[in-house]
This record gives sequence, C-alpha cells and structure tokens, in this order.
Amino acid sequence: MNYDIARKRMVETQVVGRGVSDRRVIDAMLKVPRHLFVEEAMASQSYNDTPLPIGEKQTISQPYMVALMTELLELKGKERVLEIGTGSGYQAAILAVLADRVYTIERIRPLAMRARKVLDSLGLLNVNIKVDDGTCGWPEEAPFDAIIVTAGAPEIPEDLVRQLAPGGCLVLPVGSQVSQTLVRVRKGTDGAVSVEQSIGCRFVKLIGKHGWEAE
Ligand code: SAH
Repeated sequence: MNYDIARKRMVETQVVGRGVSDRRVIDAMLKVPRHLFVEEAMASQSYNDTPLPIGEKQTISQPYMVALMTELLELKGKERVLEIGTGSGYQAAILAVLADRVYTIERIRPLAMRARKVLDSLGLLNVNIKVDDGTCGWPEEAPFDAIIVTAGAPEIPEDLVRQLAPGGCLVLPVGSQVSQTLVRVRKGTDGAVSVEQSIGCRFVKLIGKHGWEAE
C-alpha cells in the first residue's frame, strides 16, 4: 500500500471535499503520516473515513473530525495549545505542525507512552505530554491561546474556560454519552465568553472531575 497516495486521496475527498479550506490545516493533514499512529495491523485502514480503535477502548478520531476541529481553532503558528485526550497522538501531531507549543493530557498511561514514542520518531519535539485528569486543565502552563478536547464532555469544563487566554478559543464535543455537538467557546480580548455550535458528532467519554464518571 502506498500511504502517501492514500493520504493525498483522504485529504482531497474527506477534508477539502467537505469544505475544510484553511490551507495550513490541509497541508498539515497532507504531511502527518496518520498510519504511524495506529497499530500495524490497522495501518491499511488508517486513511479510511472513520475512527479506528487504538486500544484501551479508545479511538483515533475520523480524519475529517480532526481537520474540522483544528480549523475551528484558527491557529496561525505562534500559539500555545492545550489538548485533552492525547490518545494516539495524531491530533497532537497536527497541532504541533500548526502551532508553537502543544501541551496534551491523557489519563491512560500506556496511550500517553505510545504517543510520546511516535511523536519523538517524527521529530515533533514541541509537544509536552502529561498523564492526568485533563478536565482540570494544566494550570501551571496556562493561559493557552487554544484548547481542544477530543473526548465527549457533559458540559463545558469551567477550568478550561478559565485557562483560555483573551482572544483564544476552546473547541470540544458537548452532549450525552452517545452523541454530542461540536462547540466553539471564544473568549474575547475583553474577556467576554461566547459559544457557537457546529456539527453533531460522537466521541468516547471524557472521564474525570468535570467529565463523566469512570465505569
Ligand atoms: N486525540 C486523540 C483521540 C483520543 S480519544 C487522537 O488523535 O488519537 C479520547 C482520549 O481521551 C482517550 O485516549 C481517553 O483516554 C482520553 N481521555 C478521556 N478523559 C480524559 C481526561 N479527563 N483527561 C485526559 N484524557 C482523557
């Protein structure tokens, strides 16, 4: 299988074809080798239009969802970005290409360790990973210019809004355990907070103090 061709086709049909137009996001999706973020046995499916299992009952998001959420963050290159839910590390890699510094939190240690290895192997050294409950954010490194949550939240975690810099935005799925709406929270330069809704989606649960209870 030629992964470069598969990736190009994925970007054309699933990303550009569905209306993602931020050139920097498109280039990042063309650049980052998604097949390295899934188990070898699954690599041939890694450019398909679907989420895939990554172990520990978690998933790597559908490529389109990664592109859309990233576009909603409106990154220009100088930002400090916080991600909750490192998972495979794929979304973190896309952010690492598009921003100055990425802080990402994962609650399941083996996933965080695997993500670290893949990111290192790609030379993406501007990513800090922490094993913790990300619903409380990363106060020691706040404020962040952009925050992305890649697991479904029951409500907008207040700590994350607090850790957002003026002019920044927070993108996350909010809703029930089975279906959510993608939401963008903007904090104006005057500190005023506004909320916009995007498309419906379905993510694994955000588990933690300001998320769902663990099973
Ligand atoms: N962004 C990931 C997709 C992750 S799936 C990728 O690109 O592959 C969601 C991840 O969120 C899972 O790995 C899950 O363990 C993690 N997660 C759930 N609740 C969390 C929390 N409170 N803090 C940190 N990580 C959490």
